[in-house]
Amino acid sequence: MSFNIAIDGPAGAGKSTIARSLARSLGFIYVDTGAMYRAMAYYFLKNRIDPENKSGIEDACADVDITITYENGEQQVLLNGENITSQLRKESVGNMASVTSALPAVRIKLTQLQKKLAASTDVVMDGRDIGTAVLPDAQMKIYLTAGTAVRAKRRYEELKAQGIDKSLESIEKDIRNRDYRDMHRDISPLCQAEDAVLVDTSDMDIETVLNTIRRIYEEKKRS
Ligand code: C5P
Repeated sequence: MSFNIAIDGPAGAGKSTIARSLARSLGFIYVDTGAMYRAMAYYFLKNRIDPENKSGIEDACADVDITITYENGEQQVLLNGENITSQLRKESVGNMASVTSALPAVRIKLTQLQKKLAASTDVVMDGRDIGTAVLPDAQMKIYLTAGTAVRAKRRYEELKAQGIDKSLESIEKDIRNRDYRDMHRDISPLCQAEDAVLVDTSDMDIETVLNTIRRIYEEKKRS
């Protein structure tokens, strides 16, 4: 039976950095489910399918093929055979993903794919509903969070390093909107699973977070 680690939490809490590094150190596969929601959003944006257009969204979900592959251990997302990974981190795609991820057809499609990936492989999977809906039986669950201002500052520094000039205020506003949508949607809203361990990274550096989570893992393995 595969060992599954679920990491959930709001945007900018450090989930992908931590999950990627943890997976590498344990020899597990890292599955970034946000990238799958972003891939669907990219498709809707590119094909000008409005999130309000229910049948357009449903038809697209039936037609679009999303495949996950790995290159040098890094997850790649193929959309109808085309590698679109480099397009997915754009703010426009993230904001659209936060809207279209609330749509039932999108969630059903991607949840099925995620469950399949974890069934036969040891994975660290991060997202919003992994511990609550995708892998409710995961052997270990972490809810990673941090204060809104801290998360906005981290995103600001990340964008600055990429040469993207966006004000801290507008980043914080985007994060608040995204948190609200993720936490208040009808299907699988973001929340801490009852059996998840809460890790608040507001005052922690990456190494401290990783050491904390590795300790939790060692305890789980012993129990
Ligand atoms: O984590 P990331 O910012 O890449 O996720 C993009 C969007 O996809 C999130 O704002 C969220 O709305 C959605 N998402 C989700 N469920 C997941 C992963 C991501 O609803 N498991």
